[in-house]
Amino acid sequence: MRFDIMTLFPDLVSGILNESIIGRAQKSGAIEVNAHNIRDYSKDKHRRVDDTPYGGGKGMLMMAPPIYDCYQAIVDSAPEAQKRRVVYLSPRGKVFDQKKAQELATLDQLILLCGHYEGVDTRIIEEIVDEEISIGDFVLTGGELPACLVVDAVARLVEGVLADPECYEKESFSSGLLEYPQYTRPVEFHGRVVPDVLLSGHHANIEKWRTEQAFEITRRMRPELLEQKD
Ligand code: SAM
Repeated sequence: MRFDIMTLFPDLVSGILNESIIGRAQKSGAIEVNAHNIRDYSKDKHRRVDDTPYGGGKGMLMMAPPIYDCYQAIVDSAPEAQKRRVVYLSPRGKVFDQKKAQELATLDQLILLCGHYEGVDTRIIEEIVDEEISIGDFVLTGGELPACLVVDAVARLVEGVLADPECYEKESFSSGLLEYPQYTRPVEFHGRVVPDVLLSGHHANIEKWRTEQAFEITRRMRPELLEQKD
């Protein structure tokens, strides 16, 4: 799967996504992540990409033409992508969740537009954006962190990124439940001991204990998830 991020701060995005599991997945070829500098598509001699809003008001808006030219270059460079979606990271979008990550992971190409300043000229949204996604009901200075968050959550569902699909099949949200408690060595830490069942080697009992714990934790921390579960 290919991710293309349109941003004014490509180094910010690459700095995060070139590390750890997502960085390794890029090296192995399981995913491709490209950060594109919208400023490279400015036709202004000072490479300007923003201007004051019509009608007045504080702050600057990102102009539509450089974003459009950046988008067009991305599309032209990936003619083979059959299933492509363009997402604008925006506080007014639908809030991102695991279900959305699963849906996006079925695409060939995900193009992400990061706003900055007061956001973007609305005509670029009308022209190229399929969907607006928010990462929560708060306002950040730019869409770069939200874009990284979306890439991380989607990429780890792409085949070959994690060692074993079981890594995500059993974790929080995938089953509609939060994850059960996990333990590793040592057996005792500050007087807290690993539950006997996990040391028993009895797989059926371990499964049963984990399911019960997952239900209990979900009931305590996010009871509304149980109401949504079949
Ligand atoms: N004027 C905008 C408003 O009131 O909705 C806020 C613009 S914000 C300062 C700048 C950029 O950060 C946005 O264009 C968007 O790309 C990104 N952004 C901020 N908060 C976000 C959130 N919760 N989810 C996704 N993107 C966000």
